[in-house]
Amino acid sequence: MRERGEPVVNMGIGEPKNKTPITAILSSATRLSGGDVKYTPPDGMPSLKKAIIRYTEENYDRIVTPENVIVSAGAKQSIFNILYSLLNPQDEVIILAPHWVSYPEMVKMVYGVPVIVTPEDGTFIPKMHEIEEAVTSYTKAIIVNSPNNPSGAVFPPSLIAEIVEFCERKKIFLIMDDIYHKLVFDGVKAEPAYHFSNKDIEDTMVIVVNGVAKLYGMTGFRIGWVIANRKLVEVMTNVQSQITSCTSSVLQSAAEGALTGMQSVVENLRLTFQNNRNVVMQELHTFSGIKAIKPEGTFYVLPDFRAYSNNSIELSQFLLRKALVVTVPCKEFGMEGYIRLSFAGSVKDITTAIERIKWALDPNSPNEIYIGDRKLIRDWL
Ligand code: PMP
Repeated sequence: MRERGEPVVNMGIGEPKNKTPITAILSSATRLSGGDVKYTPPDGMPSLKKAIIRYTEENYDRIVTPENVIVSAGAKQSIFNILYSLLNPQDEVIILAPHWVSYPEMVKMVYGVPVIVTPEDGTFIPKMHEIEEAVTSYTKAIIVNSPNNPSGAVFPPSLIAEIVEFCERKKIFLIMDDIYHKLVFDGVKAEPAYHFSNKDIEDTMVIVVNGVAKLYGMTGFRIGWVIANRKLVEVMTNVQSQITSCTSSVLQSAAEGALTGMQSVVENLRLTFQNNRNVVMQELHTFSGIKAIKPEGTFYVLPDFRAYSNNSIELSQFLLRKALVVTVPCKEFGMEGYIRLSFAGSVKDITTAIERIKWALDPNSPNEIYIGDRKLIRDWL
């Protein structure tokens, strides 16, 4: 539609708009200009692993060894690789709704069974008893993503503590997808699961996934990593060495540059998203019928659109067609009737998009609008 010149606003995209941090550019450019672009060890370049070990020490208070770290082509491959390495056919993985769209698909791809837990109280944070009730003798792992895509919810430390205690006691792997862990607002903290485990890295059931995509806005570099016990890292390394050999050395150098460079990059993104979150909430409050829980992290908000439609896919398509706004229907995120809006774009994108969505759906809003240089009249309400 954009190629046809349509003034589409994209509220669907899951990535920051910033330019790549300069230290990442310089570090990858140095590798390129040196002409030394070869295979790396399958589990990652030693110098990048060193940077990840330092990151883990600084942000998680955990000292790990290079044998506890494996670098992959994005956190997405990291998670797939964990599931591929851990699961036997029919093993169950507990996934907490709302959830990232890829978890259940990945579990199914390795012949596991996704078990979805949806909070009954209408919030985006499950109760411990709801998780426990979903556990069976086949449960191999629980995936926790806090700050959460698509809701922006941050789980309270008390819940993380309960989940860690439960997983360690029951010998269930706890996969912490921490890809948004520093993008938190208003002084809220995404408490690392490690803080609630007194077990050694080789004994804990906690597995941590992270990457440069969201914190540094480096989605295109495709670098993620896992911190886990040596045995699992060894299996994952065997798997990866048969599939990709290794991730690109140029991109690993870029990630190393980001991790060892100025961390104000992350703080600037966090502040931008916090401000954008305030704008999006202010705009949504003027929208009759829409219920939205204030996100405490990420760059997503997940409003309940059921006052307008119970079919989020149809509603999303309608909004694209009529209002030229891209949104993400959340049926496949375990929240039918909800639509994810990304506020990673500009303030102008946010205000324009919500004005257009309001015009398309809310009979209390004015029935005329300018979209680009066209004046449109709403004739369907
Ligand atoms: N986990 C979650 C919750 C995500 O939202 C995403 C990206 N959309 C990923 C993992 C994947 O990150 P990467 O780009 O590093 O593969």
